[in-house]
Parts: sequence; structure tokens; C-alpha cells
Amino acid sequence: MTARIIDGKAVARKLRAEYAERIADLKVRHGVVPGIAVILVGDNPASQVYVRNKISACKDTGIHSELYQLPADTPEAVLMARIDALNADPAVHGILVQLPLPVHISVPNVLERIAVDKDVDGFHLYNVGGLVTGNTVFPPCTPFGVQKLLEHENVEISGKNVVVVGASNIVGKPMALMLMQQDATVCICHKMTRDLGQFTRLADILVVAAGVPGLIKGDMVSEGVVVIDVGINRLPDGRLVGDVDFESVSQKASLLSPVPGGVGPMTITMLLHNTLVSAERAVAAKG
Ligand code: NAD
Repeated sequence: MTARIIDGKAVARKLRAEYAERIADLKVRHGVVPGIAVILVGDNPASQVYVRNKISACKDTGIHSELYQLPADTPEAVLMARIDALNADPAVHGILVQLPLPVHISVPNVLERIAVDKDVDGFHLYNVGGLVTGNTVFPPCTPFGVQKLLEHENVEISGKNVVVVGASNIVGKPMALMLMQQDATVCICHKMTRDLGQFTRLADILVVAAGVPGLIKGDMVSEGVVVIDVGINRLPDGRLVGDVDFESVSQKASLLSPVPGGVGPMTITMLLHNTLVSAERAVAAKG
């Protein structure tokens, strides 16, 4: 079998066009422009690139964005005061604090300071807990993007064996909970898992988010498996690759998401989605 390759860029483009229409509609009918505030503390070069990409995607879709750049030595109290002001600002529907933060600032304190109904990254403890019951206010963007990709490709989830490789708080664990909510039988593997292949071979759907290039080889998957590669790894020669050995796995999978061009474009798209939904909820709440 040779895998059909998922075109994440095309799916993201289609969804962004739908969101742009809904955003334009909000403006015309209610005079409301969805707004996001992005806070960047320090000068981490990778974070600067991520923030630039997010702001540019917002602009293209019609979302108003405000960037707050704070110096690396900003006291935690100053950051908290900024979040409080944004929580109280009705023109701001989403607040995003770019991670990582300088070590003197507590990430859990900061994430929990963001109002739950503006937590468009889905990292607040309430939103994380809500994944257990299926009542999250905003699902976290990367696993949500995977879910949307699977939905777009008409992949049936209910009753399927899903194996998630990677158990981080931002990808693996929420992914597993979201798929369990859709009645999949879910197994989570991580770096202490013995004989990874014995689990991955059971998968009808395999989601890999480990950050280890080439971790999943063709002999570790079954014929016809659907494989979503979340990993993003920069090789010493400059190439960007996922966690899945594309050559060997593409010979056995029925559907495979590539890196780049698979999950990556979906993550920011889900941030746009969550910000739009937040603005739509604010309009609905006003009546
Ligand atoms: P993380 O380092 O926080 O977690 C990695 C997880 O993988 C851990 O649970 C660890 O136990 C597990 N793991 C590591 N080595 C393993 C091994 N050999 N076998 C099995 N499990 C192993 O990473 P993260 O933030 O969850 O990100 C994972 C990958 O996804 C990275 O490559 C990251 O760049 C990528 N990522 C992509 C997007 C996107 O938008 N496409 C978003 C977030 C993360």
C-alpha cells in the first residue's frame, strides 16, 4: 500500500477562508472585530518567529492583534498586571502568552491568570481539566488541529485503536483525551515505554508527537494505518523532518501527514478558530 498524503496547507487554507467569512460577518452585523493580545517576554529568537507568524495569520484572516513585548527581566507581577488589564478589556477576545517564559516567572501562575473564556491556547487548568469531561472552553490548538485534519479526511474515530506516542501536556495527553472523547480505544506511549513497536503495531490511527526524528519506522506500523506526524525536528543539515520515517511508513500507511505541510499549518489555524469563537460567544452573551 502507498499512503495518500494529507495536504495540511490546503485544509488550513480552506478553514481560514471559512473563518475569514465569519469574521467579516461579525463586523458587518455586530460591529465586532475579533481581537487577540499576544504577550512576548524576552527575546527568544524561535518565539519571535512563532509570534510573527501568528500575528501575520491573524491579519490575513481579519483578526485584530496587539503585541506586548516585555523585556526578559520583567517581574512576574508586571506580567500579571498586564494580563489582568487584558482580561478586563472587552475588545480582547483571546490572550496568548508565548512560551517558554524566563525562568523567574511561574508558567502555571501565568496560565491560570488568563480568563478561561479568553484562553485561546487552551492551557488554563480549567481548560485542561475540561478535556476529561469533554467540556473544555477552548481545546489546545495542536491536538485540535489534528482532530480537524482527521475530520476533514473523514477518518472514523469511534471504536478504532488509537496510539499516541508522546505524553506532553500540550500535545500527547490532550490528544489522547480528545480522541477518547470520540470513543476511540486509546493507548499513550512515552519515552519510558518498553518496546514501542508492540503498541504502535496495534494502531488503526497513530499520532506521533515525541520530537525524535525517524522514531517510527515501517516495521512498527500495520498495513493501512492512518499516521499523523506532529513532530518538528531540524536536522544538522538544515532539513525539517517529523518523527516518522516517511519513506518506510508511507509504503504501509493508508493516510499520512507530512512534515512540513501537515499538522504545522493547522496549529495556528486553530488559534484563529478559537479567537473567532471567543468573539462570537461575546456577541451572543450580549444578546
Ligand atoms: P515534549 O518534549 O514536551 O514531549 C515529548 C514526549 O515524547 C514526552 O512525553 C516523551 O516521554 C515522549 N518521548 C520522547 N522520546 C520518546 C521515545 N523515544 N519514544 C516514545 N516517546 C518518547 O514535546 P512536545 O511539546 O509534546 O512536542 C513533541 C513534538 O511535536 C516536537 O517535535 C515538537 O516540535 C512538535 N510540535 C509540533 C507542533 C505543531 O504545530 N506541529 C506543536 C507542538 C509541538
